[in-house]
Amino acid sequence: MTPPALESRFQPQPQHANRRRTGLVQHALVLDEMDPALAIDRGDDDSVPLELLTFGGVRELCPECKTPSLKLVLRQKTVRLAHLFCADCGRCFDAHYSNGVSALTI
Ligand SMILES: [Zn+2]
Repeated sequence: MTPPALESRFQPQPQHANRRRTGLVQHALVLDEMDPALAIDRGDDDSVPLELLTFGGVRELCPECKTPSLKLVLRQKTVRLAHLFCADCGRCFDAHYSNGVSALTI
């Protein structure tokens, strides 16, 4: 017969499982399309080519064209708000976590 103390040692620990699942949810990004005019300062002269520095790709797919073409664009001379730019369809997206916290704020 097994002593009760040994049995309880092998019980699954639901608290651990919950914590792990919550961690995954927090890392899922919510992408909202935004007006490029809000993020990018084009100035008055549209004929001037826009210079944008991107800071690498992200693993999320573009919500519109479903391609892994999203690039991180941080604030710079012509960029007012950090955002994700899709090199395929040219759309801009804001990214935040499911709890509403911005994912692009440093
Ligand atoms: Zn796209």
